[in-house]
Amino acid sequence: MMTLLMGMRASEIVQRIARDIDDQVRILWVTASKTEAGKRRFGVPVGLRPYLGELAKGKSPGDLLFGLRDRGWPNKCVQRICHEADVPVVCPRNAWPALNLGNGPPANHMPSISDVAVLVTGVVTGYVHASFVESWSHDQICHARRSTLDRYGQLPFFGRRLRNSWRSHTAVHHGMTFRPDYTMQFASSDEEARACTYVLQHRLDPGNDFGLSVSLTGFFRFLLPFMVLNTVVVIVAPLLLSIPFVVLSLVSPLFSKFVHPHLHKPYKRACSTAPLLIRLLLRSPMGPTMWTRHFLHHRHPRFSFNLMMPIGDWLRGVTWDADALDLVELRRVGGPGE
Ligand SMILES: [Zn+2]
Ligand SMILES: [Zn+2]
Repeated sequence: MMTLLMGMRASEIVQRIARDIDDQVRILWVTASKTEAGKRRFGVPVGLRPYLGELAKGKSPGDLLFGLRDRGWPNKCVQRICHEADVPVVCPRNAWPALNLGNGPPANHMPSISDVAVLVTGVVTGYVHASFVESWSHDQICHARRSTLDRYGQLPFFGRRLRNSWRSHTAVHHGMTFRPDYTMQFASSDEEARACTYVLQHRLDPGNDFGLSVSLTGFFRFLLPFMVLNTVVVIVAPLLLSIPFVVLSLVSPLFSKFVHPHLHKPYKRACSTAPLLIRLLLRSPMGPTMWTRHFLHHRHPRFSFNLMMPIGDWLRGVTWDADALDLVELRRVGGPGE
């Protein structure tokens, strides 16, 4: 069946060892062929997975999957199956030439429906998780209420860091900068000096431009709230699900580092001065929505916490729709459409 369904050569089949089975029997590696071109990765069809899994059970990583067999053995098996099925006897190699795509997997290794379903599940759950955690941590850590801050103060080790996240975000980014308006970080050098003094006094991260960006260490701190569920998913879920799930957790820290600074510029200026990828993003249909959402967050800091993925705010009931006053101010500072 492996010759027919996976397009493998007879020698490749008989030389497989238990270690070649990977990713919960989804993948079979051929790494010991004589030529570079013979090194291949085969997707294992769903129907064959239980049988290969069974063969590997109880074997050491280096044990031959099928025991000691000569390269004629797969051919004999194909002949026996053809006889039992009462169909013309074919050579295994002739059964799949149309499937052979050279160095890559044969065409029947296109992802199965179940693989696609697992991948889509990873994307959807990863999106909801990333968006929800961004909304929650922005609200409960960066904009923590006084009573929550007091509780943080009693925690060992993390207590100071959590309170400093609040200082850096609420006190500095929302409080000491962008006071004149949403697009002007400081109105005077005095204002800047005051913010500088506060940052130094509380030993806040000096590399994040007064909370406008995220430094490298801040980037990893930002990731911590996502790591709880990420760790569980990586341990219990298949790779196809856990990869998109974990990758989507990077969106919030990456956007805070690279996109957030450009959201505090008049929209048209941001669209013409940001680096290419960010410019394209801002000019896409998502750009104006993202700019406006963050503008509204600064006017109403208990709402609209997500930069990019708004479903977390929506699930938590903390979205804000612009009112007439918001729209007047949005026009004044050069929001989208102006
Ligand atoms: Zn901001
Ligand atoms: Zn905020």
